[in-house]
Amino acid sequence: MSQQIYINGEYFSRENAKVSVYDHGLLYGDGVFEGMRIYSGRVFRLQQHLVRLWESAAAIALPMPISIEKLTDDVNECVAKNALDDGYIRLVVTRGAGPLGLDPYKCSNPQIIIIADKISLYPEQMYEDGLELVTAATIRNHPAALSPRIKSLNYLNNIMAKMEGLKAGCVEAVMLNTKGEVAECTGDNLFIVRRGELSTPPIDAGILEGITRGAVLELAKAAGIKTHEVPLTRHDIFIADECFLTGSAAEVIAAVKLDDRVIGNGKPGPVTTKLNEAFRKLVREQ
Ligand code: PMP
Repeated sequence: MSQQIYINGEYFSRENAKVSVYDHGLLYGDGVFEGMRIYSGRVFRLQQHLVRLWESAAAIALPMPISIEKLTDDVNECVAKNALDDGYIRLVVTRGAGPLGLDPYKCSNPQIIIIADKISLYPEQMYEDGLELVTAATIRNHPAALSPRIKSLNYLNNIMAKMEGLKAGCVEAVMLNTKGEVAECTGDNLFIVRRGELSTPPIDAGILEGITRGAVLELAKAAGIKTHEVPLTRHDIFIADECFLTGSAAEVIAAVKLDDRVIGNGKPGPVTTKLNEAFRKLVREQ
């Protein structure tokens, strides 16, 4: 069956799914988005993703042209139309087409796009062995300039850090905030385990409030693991017993090296493995 891409309530083939070159999403990165996983035909934590989408849109004063209930139905319909059991949804809302020039108030037709597809973010082997990280020289956007809590279409900050990682032979890079603390990776949140306790940077370190991050914190608490949302430095990662990343696309993946320092014993650790198993169970049972 051919792919069905949703644009403003209508479905198009991949070849015919098009938006205007005057769309401010393209011209200025003016828009917001979500990335979610489909497990066994259902979108994991769809409501949480939609709430975050609405919050991102509110933060950039983008009036959502649809109700949350209708978009919930439309996302589910798009999943069904594409007959995807396991896959990924990219939900994009752009400011819409307008004249050249920044003025967002001249864009009167926000575009809602839903793409349901397969995704494989990191090579399968890395889920067994863990991945290696470098610290990017590119600092994460300062929250007072463009809050990382907004999942906006302006991902250049992350892309520049991603390039640094890839050039160094790593699929992910750690991004620091202006204080030199660990913020997050280019598309994932970061956790460490030390002496059996779990730590992750707090929201005000300047990170996206990841939905997978939230799920993992809940799972850890339910498993009796102490959790901390505290500022972390690179040093905390160097001396951690374990480190892992979370994200809708990435899921849970161990990180075993940072800037050439081996983390723990250089293998995915027991707490990471336990939480990963709990996460895999959760997404199937939801
Ligand atoms: N941080 C950034 C910068 C992201 O883009 C993402 C999503 N890919 C995450 C963290 C993880 O968020 P979530 O678990 O909600 O996918």
